[in-house]
Amino acid sequence: MRIAVVEDDDGVGEALLDALSKVGHTPVRMRRGSELLLGHRDVEVVVLDLGLPDADGLTVLRQLRAVDDVPVVVLTARDDERSVVRALRAGADDYLVKPARLRELQARLEVVVRRRGTSGPAEPTTVVEAGDVVVDLGARSVRVRDEDVPLTRKEFEVLAHLVRRRGEAVSRQELMDAIWGDAYVTVSRSLDVHMTSLRAKLGLPDAIATIRGFGYRWTL
Ligand code: CA
Repeated sequence: MRIAVVEDDDGVGEALLDALSKVGHTPVRMRRGSELLLGHRDVEVVVLDLGLPDADGLTVLRQLRAVDDVPVVVLTARDDERSVVRALRAGADDYLVKPARLRELQARLEVVVRRRGTSGPAEPTTVVEAGDVVVDLGARSVRVRDEDVPLTRKEFEVLAHLVRRRGEAVSRQELMDAIWGDAYVTVSRSLDVHMTSLRAKLGLPDAIATIRGFGYRWTL
């Protein structure tokens, strides 16, 4: 497997590269979060340190998750429960505390990749048809007037959450908790950004109604 090893510490980084190469993988060393955000499409799985020189690893993970669901195993010195919970909520598939036990890391990488590959549609096939819109919650796809609408992961999650509760008012807080978890401090603005792009991509001005001072409702 091509494995991104995002680790600024040379000692740890080289040890990981050695160990992963020896068992037949193709590790790609990255020292900064920005390298991962540029290169994630070329790898099948990511080992992510949280203490990076250019950005906190959790921030990098959230930025990655907005565009890609490549499996991520966090490998960090931070062993407190709060850090583990924040990383999992930010989209980590697994979490290991340094020093890495290399065979365990290898096993966990294989597990997260296999899990992602086989359980692709995590939900039973649930297709919601409403007027011109067909949302397939299992396949995570959206069609509007028979055209596929490519959405980012977060845009899809916003849409899916509203569609599952169609006709009901959904508060901003509920959306933010469901999609970002409570650790994401700048999330309010982020929700606005995703809502704007989601609406623009759907091209259906009335589909998502804004309920002033409260939240949104899927109206179709
Ligand atoms: Ca580090």
